[in-house]
Amino acid sequence: MGYESIRILVVDDEEHIRIALSRILSRLGCEVLLAEDGEESLSILKDTRVDLVLLDLKMPGIDGMDVLRTIKEEIDPHILVIIITGFATLEIAVESMKQGAYDFIPKSFDKEHILLVVKRALDNILLIQEKERLDKERKDALLDLITEKSRLKTILEVLPNGVLVTNNNREVVLINNTIRKHFSISDSVPLGLDISYYITHDKVLDFILFGIEEEGDISCEFKINDDLYLLIKKNSIFSEDQKLLGYVVISMDITPLKKLDQLKSEFVARVSHELRGSLSTIHEQIALVLQDLIEDPEFSADKRILEKAKQRTRGLTELIEKLLDLSRIESGKVYVDIKDIYMEEFLSSRFEDWKDQAELKKQHMVLELNTQGDFTIKADPRALNILFNNLVNNAIKYTPEGGKIYISTYKQGDMGIVAVKDTGIGISKQEQDKIFNRFYRVKDDSTKDISGTGLGLAIAKGIVDDLGGDIGVISEKNKGSTFLVKLPLVG
Ligand code: ADP
Repeated sequence: MGYESIRILVVDDEEHIRIALSRILSRLGCEVLLAEDGEESLSILKDTRVDLVLLDLKMPGIDGMDVLRTIKEEIDPHILVIIITGFATLEIAVESMKQGAYDFIPKSFDKEHILLVVKRALDNILLIQEKERLDKERKDALLDLITEKSRLKTILEVLPNGVLVTNNNREVVLINNTIRKHFSISDSVPLGLDISYYITHDKVLDFILFGIEEEGDISCEFKINDDLYLLIKKNSIFSEDQKLLGYVVISMDITPLKKLDQLKSEFVARVSHELRGSLSTIHEQIALVLQDLIEDPEFSADKRILEKAKQRTRGLTELIEKLLDLSRIESGKVYVDIKDIYMEEFLSSRFEDWKDQAELKKQHMVLELNTQGDFTIKADPRALNILFNNLVNNAIKYTPEGGKIYISTYKQGDMGIVAVKDTGIGISKQEQDKIFNRFYRVKDDSTKDISGTGLGLAIAKGIVDDLGGDIGVISEKNKGSTFLVKLPLVG
């Protein structure tokens, strides 16, 4: 073990002893300072850190015992002091021990003996130094931890978003002020209780505990009350061996956005109503003028222009109808009258209308009910009307004259399926992902003469999502398409 970090002061009035001791100690690797009397030793000790003092007792002026006392009482009681004495009597030994001396060495210069005593003292000093170093490290680490913890706490508290963390036992281990405000959790509710003590909103609690994440997280909007809408995001945390460690839940106040959205929807709805009224008047008037135009080649150009104008007003009316549907869906107006719907009954009641429309294009429409009356879902019939009108109208629109359309029902576990199948123009694989986006329309030779808004399937998907179901398409270009709507069955 190296003693390089240790500084020793040798205090002796006899020069040859100072020199001899200095030689022995330097070989051990220590730094050695020398003092020839008590006064000089005290002045060195006042300015310089020393770990060990080898101290002669009998010196002129301040003697060794006084130096020892001053070291222990005034300078530093931790400095080890070894007494060098030529005549070790029992009284001297007892007195110097009382004053705090560490050990003795004889002046007889038994080198081995000196080394033994000094090394023991040096090892002791090294141990103390090591302990001091470890103590400091621990204190520093503790300080770091405390600073880190309070920094984290401060950050969490000033976050505009709510944060809640649970362990794998559903107990809440961390919560910030924002989420306390969002869920009106009193400050007196301590940490460590089951999550249901904090999140008393049933739907949010269900979502946190049972919502299944895709790509690491899941988020959902909730209306907490008329004045608070929250976007809740949940991440499940897993250990390396895939054991659930707990959940991290973030809540964001989206009330201002929702209010703005509502205003926007109301605005669109109002403007659309106005436009629809005026447009249908224009449409009717054009139709009247067209009826009255005599079959005279002189008017054929005017007739063509008016036919175009009539077609455009029809397109605009369709767009407005779709925008109105969207705003009804977004404002929740189509989810007010939720009741049990017997799907077979519902489809049968709409079938005649759809069939009539198909017959205008000489298409053959078939209803196949394969669910033996056992297909009941919970929904508002208005939402279902919009959903299936869009799918059936598309099937008619994108299927040439003489084609076939099948509407069928199936069951798969706890889901009911309605399939709308046509023998129309089909949709290529690349387009199939995009057709459910708002305003997306396939643009190619087969669709160039078919008018539309690109909103029908986005509306259909919005409704199916809101009903907790799923919508998808199976299609092949020029062969036909099948749209599949899966909806959760009652019970
Ligand atoms: P659009 O008003 O254009 O019909 P949709 O949102 O209803 O808007 O449909 C989006 C696009 O998906 C359509 O432009 C069309 O290209 C394609 N599409 C929808 N239904 C069918 C179908 N039954 N057969 C072929 N293509 C379809």
